[in-house]
Amino acid sequence: MNVLERIKKQCGACLQEHEVQTISLEETTTFKHVEVSFSSVYEYCENTDILSEDEALLRTNDLSMKNAYRTKMGLLKADEITGIRGKYSISQKELSELLGWGQATIGRYESHQVQDKAHDKLLRIIDEDPQKYLELLEAGRNLISKRTYDKSFSAATKLFANSGDQYLRSSIESEYAAIVDGIYSGYRELNLNKVVDMINYYAIKAQPLYSVKLAKMLWYGDKYHFDNQGHAISGLLYHAMPKGAVPRSYWKIINLEGIKSEEVVICDNLSVRFIPKKDHSFKNLTEDEITSLNHVIENYGVYNSSNISEVMHCEDVYKITQPNGLIPFAINSK
Ligand SMILES: [Zn+2]
Repeated sequence: MNVLERIKKQCGACLQEHEVQTISLEETTTFKHVEVSFSSVYEYCENTDILSEDEALLRTNDLSMKNAYRTKMGLLKADEITGIRGKYSISQKELSELLGWGQATIGRYESHQVQDKAHDKLLRIIDEDPQKYLELLEAGRNLISKRTYDKSFSAATKLFANSGDQYLRSSIESEYAAIVDGIYSGYRELNLNKVVDMINYYAIKAQPLYSVKLAKMLWYGDKYHFDNQGHAISGLLYHAMPKGAVPRSYWKIINLEGIKSEEVVICDNLSVRFIPKKDHSFKNLTEDEITSLNHVIENYGVYNSSNISEVMHCEDVYKITQPNGLIPFAINSK
């Protein structure tokens, strides 16, 4: 029992005027078949040794117990739900409407009712990804006022803009998340910072650099490093495509922040050309890794996309891989 404050007032327990203590204590109870411990607040009368709670304290203690339950069950706490609304500038009623839950639902979650798992999951999705929230807002724009829509839209777009390529990165990483035999990843975990450095290095040293050629050069950089050091550089997985090796999630990867490119039309085909960035620092690459990239540039830097694809088709590891399959870094290690 911990005394928070003492105030002289009419005591609710003995009905006399005296110094009443506000105290906190740790309690344990069972809620929805789960034992939860939480700290609650009471008023304490020393004359009668009675603990009492008025309506406000009753609500606070109830919320504190339910938050303890939420924490134990891995659910968002009431103030975290309030926080999500706050950052998207939207009211309880309007967020409920957007989610299609009936007007009062969010208000109940923020005061006295514990949300179910499905609702919790949805709230987490919009919390973690402003783009998902924007989709929800767009789909429900007729359900809320124009003013709220505008206010919430601008809050969400700001969050999205400030997030850089965080969402793109997590989307790529999730496509790499499945556990794959190290022979396909070159015994390296995906490192997107190294990938961005590799692309910029090639863009400076191997112009003109188009997307088909870059895909092969990334492969050769990883493969050469693997053959000499026993592991790849980037952790990229490469698929055997008709024109040779292409990294998994390639079109997302070349849109990462820090890579400069432009769309160009070559022989009626839309392609992407990578633009050298003179000020790029290659702080994520080791000296050995740069040596491997230099080797690739010396051997393939002057090739065009179709030359390099032809060379690729003569590679043993490419020849043994099924179309679209993952290319192993070595043949006999499996
Ligand atoms: Zn009293």
